[in-house]
Amino acid sequence: MNSCLIILTSLQWVKDEIKSMKDSGRFVPIKILQTPQGAWVRIEGNRVLNMCSNNYLGLADHPEIKKAAIEAIEEYGVGAGAVRSIAGSNEIHRKLEERVARFKHMESALVYQGGLLANTGTIPALVGKEDLVFSEELNHASIIDGVRLSSAQRVMYRHMDMQDLESRLKENAGKGRRSLIISDGVFSMDGDIAPLPEIVELAEKHGAMSYVDDAHGEGVLGDHGRGICDHFNLSKRIDVEMGTFSKAIGSMGGFVAGSQELVDYLMRKARPFLFSSGLNPGDAAAVLKAIEIMERDDSLLKKLWENTVYLQDGLRNLGFNLGSTKTPITPVIIGDEKKTLQMSRELYDSEKVFASPIVYPTVPVGTARIRLMPSAVHSRDDMDYALSAFRKTGKKLGIIN
Ligand SMILES: *Cc1c(COP(=O)(O)O)cnc(C)c1O
Repeated sequence: MNSCLIILTSLQWVKDEIKSMKDSGRFVPIKILQTPQGAWVRIEGNRVLNMCSNNYLGLADHPEIKKAAIEAIEEYGVGAGAVRSIAGSNEIHRKLEERVARFKHMESALVYQGGLLANTGTIPALVGKEDLVFSEELNHASIIDGVRLSSAQRVMYRHMDMQDLESRLKENAGKGRRSLIISDGVFSMDGDIAPLPEIVELAEKHGAMSYVDDAHGEGVLGDHGRGICDHFNLSKRIDVEMGTFSKAIGSMGGFVAGSQELVDYLMRKARPFLFSSGLNPGDAAAVLKAIEIMERDDSLLKKLWENTVYLQDGLRNLGFNLGSTKTPITPVIIGDEKKTLQMSRELYDSEKVFASPIVYPTVPVGTARIRLMPSAVHSRDDMDYALSAFRKTGKKLGIIN
């Protein structure tokens, strides 16, 4: 009884934290979907236009992919049963790794259970406390965590600023045992594209390893959605290309692609490979099928970009600030956090548009936004529906004239 009371009191700070989040508009309610991902979804019994999933190509609910996953479950079961390094490596993992490497035009690939794990597993295997990591200031949280776990010294460089990167490299020349330059390929909250050719050039010039996180480039950039390295024709020059299967690919899991030696090494060093069970066979099969579909047919990719251009032109014409996006990621930047939450709530309640607010700490204070994600499964009518809802709501809240 006593100890129970002590525990309750010792967690009082959590209540206080929640209250302070609510007061500042940073306690965002979490919506529960009752249907698969798609252009329209059901939430709380209401049919709403889904404008915030990463299901770029609509593959999360693709009939052929679902069938492939079901067949793999019939053949291999639901779980890998062990960590990959002990008894959890199934032939479907090997097949997937070969397929990913081929799709990415890389020599080899290693599959992880998620993109976050790919970053937090790979980075500490590449650098340690004697080393330096040159990290772009807007890098994804999983990169930041990977760098922290590595204990390497982090040198931050400014967003998209290659002069700043070069200065940092020069300042630190001769320091550390090894250096790594790491960047998101497509920035997940802004949609702009890292200048990868310059990054690779600077890495080569300064003897640093190069590492790109292509989570939002896969299925979106490059020939048949092969991603950012293909987009810039750099597959032969980048050292580590990391990606996820949870966005355009529609399923779950992550990977890194690179040289055979890199993969052989990571299989002995990366902690998520050694200490967490392997990817489920159904997910592996889903990814295999998704890549087959992407290679076979790029009509989904074309549709994604058609919708993107139409939506972004429409929003800009209405007077919204979309920052500097170059990809389907469509940030409608409002700035004020409470106003952003209000806009999102209004869109949902009055217009039946599901468009999540994104606030601090996901984006810097003062840059709160609603991030829209058009997809290949949206129709032109859906885009018009979203534009009309943004026009009405934006005017009502005084965000546009
Ligand atoms: C989503 C995302 C990840 C994490 O991928 P998951 O497979 O969902 O864990 C990593 N990096 C970036 C840039 C992302 O946007």
